[in-house]
Amino acid sequence: MDLAVTDPNLPAVSDASSESGRRVAFVTGITGQDGSYLAELLLAKGYEVHGIIRRASMFNTERLDAIYQDPHEAHRRLFLHYGDVTDASGLVNAIRDIRPTEVYHLAAQSHVRVSFDIPEYTGDTTGLGTVRLLEAIRAAGIETRFYQASTSELFGSTPPPQNEQTPFHPRSPYGVAKMYSYWMTVNYRESYGMHASNGILFNHESPRRGETFVTRKITRAVARIAAGLQEDLFLGNLDAVRDWGYAPEYVEGMWRILQQDQPDDYVLATGVPATVRDFVAEAFSHVGLDWEKYVKHDSRYERPAEVDALIGDPGKAERQLGWKTTTDWRRLAQIMVDADIQQLDDQLSGRSIRLDDR
Ligand code: NDP
Ligand code: GDP
Repeated sequence: MDLAVTDPNLPAVSDASSESGRRVAFVTGITGQDGSYLAELLLAKGYEVHGIIRRASMFNTERLDAIYQDPHEAHRRLFLHYGDVTDASGLVNAIRDIRPTEVYHLAAQSHVRVSFDIPEYTGDTTGLGTVRLLEAIRAAGIETRFYQASTSELFGSTPPPQNEQTPFHPRSPYGVAKMYSYWMTVNYRESYGMHASNGILFNHESPRRGETFVTRKITRAVARIAAGLQEDLFLGNLDAVRDWGYAPEYVEGMWRILQQDQPDDYVLATGVPATVRDFVAEAFSHVGLDWEKYVKHDSRYERPAEVDALIGDPGKAERQLGWKTTTDWRRLAQIMVDADIQQLDDQLSGRSIRLDDR
């Protein structure tokens, strides 16, 4: 059958039932930190990968640069379609036409602090977006496996350690919206027998982390301060405890969750706590600087309700998925600082080339 999705270059794909061994992934949020690593992983495993991207006034596929395939390439396996999780009919059309064997639902307004400023929009994307996608799968009448990007923010104020049995008490519009998505995923599993699973992922970071999340904000500032381009770094609550892991390892966990015969819910975490202050100190000391000379407090970066401590217990994932992290938060901080120094060097040399060209 020919496809009528938004990408006119998409090749024809025959009905899944007539093909064995088809491995076709549909990824929402493919332009984000996790989506980009996941797309790389799936391509390396031989999947055909379809992602939805939002129309933007500038290019928004920077994180996919390494794997981008020209639309004119004959054998490409990465396909990008315009779409939005607030647009149900677009999701229905895409799922019906692509007929994915695995759906990874990562799209969300993912920033906790921002969710207090735009709670309704956060509910629409991070919450209702999930049921739109689940309904699109039902409407298409296909058998597929569904992964929901759930979060340790579900636990909120429930004290650590947190595992799959820990009661939820979200503390932000983001956390509440994700709770709706968590339960919708469970509900579609129980109501319709869907292979639908939640990965309850604790914070995971990388050089591709959005610049306003605390780890990246810190490592970017360290690179700029070390280069003499910035004088200080304004932060909010330094006492918060997080369980920070390395994002490429977490997308491997997502994939493993969907390879299980039975759908289920899993915590992915390192189990190792650190405060924001610890992370700051490690990042600055990696370039030989004393953080206390540079870090200043700004209450605008505090939240109306804080999540004080998230420390995951990944025992179930270790036992059942054979998944375990290997990068601790200190190493993570070093990786991110080094990458931000490199990126800054590239930008500065790029700028000087452009200036020379004038
Ligand atoms: P990012 O913020 O980096 O990426 C979010 C992605 O969602 C982007 O591709 C973004 O597109 C897309 N998106 C946002 N709104 C819409 C919309 N209305 N329609 C379609 N796409 C949309 O998040 P991460 O990669 O870090 O996280 C991936 C998922 O995992 C998210 O759902 C997040 O909430 C969840 N999660 C993340 C954790 C973490 O520590 N990183 C921990 C636990 C859960 P665009 O590029 O156009 O903005
Ligand atoms: P979150 O755990 O999903 O909210 O991820 P963030 O990286 O946004 O925040 C982690 C922790 O860092 C939270 O407890 C924040 O309150 C704290 N934090 C302290 N200062 C800042 C800041 O300037 N920006 C952000 N994003 N978080 C900060």
